[in-house]
Amino acid sequence: MKSAPEEQERLITLQTLDTLLTQLAHKAKTLPVIAALEIVTISHNSTRDLVIAAETEKADIKHELTKSEVDVEQVVARIDKDEKRMASGTASPKELEQMQHELASLNKRRSELEEIELEVMVRVDGIDDRIKSLSAERDQLKAKINELETQKTNELAEISTAGASAQKQRVDIVSKISAELIELYEKIRKSADGIGSARLIEGKCDGCHLSINAVELSKIKATPIDEVVRCEECRRILVRPKGF
Ligand SMILES: [Zn+2]
Repeated sequence: MKSAPEEQERLITLQTLDTLLTQLAHKAKTLPVIAALEIVTISHNSTRDLVIAAETEKADIKHELTKSEVDVEQVVARIDKDEKRMASGTASPKELEQMQHELASLNKRRSELEEIELEVMVRVDGIDDRIKSLSAERDQLKAKINELETQKTNELAEISTAGASAQKQRVDIVSKISAELIELYEKIRKSADGIGSARLIEGKCDGCHLSINAVELSKIKATPIDEVVRCEECRRILVRPKGF
């Protein structure tokens, strides 16, 4: 295939741009901030779930507290009633004795129930503390997520700007290379790790980094300068230095 040396040189510029575009795409996918964001999001979600679980537990304990308060109120009401009856002086001595027994057991029951109520109240305080500290942790993680999201957006925007600029230069350079040569370059690129053209530097192909033997080198030297040469090893387009 025929191609002027300047055109072959453009193929190297094109290769540099394509390599840059590949690197940028890889960079966008492997930004450390993306991995950091994943880790923080997992922590945030599990903390958020713990808050929800603690709130559910609190609702259950509150329900228990209400029940316990009602139990105490009922016993207190019965005690009041019995005490009023005793104070009224209308009860017979036998009834008074019965009421005294009943009051003793009611008071015993009352202190038992109050103890239960107190224990439930302590549990409410405990769960409140847990919700408070878990919520603070969750909010901190959310703030970290927002911070990392901003960082990710900025870093991706930077990559995108660099990519757009390389893409623009690429369109320009492609317009200055024959369609036939571009087709060959793209075909090689597909099967050769994205590298379609390479320089011949100090007897080596810069694509596969292998030395070209003396016989092959003299063959290349004898090839007209406007003829497209390919590496014997990797089959990439070999761009010769000026005057080679
Ligand atoms: Zn090669």
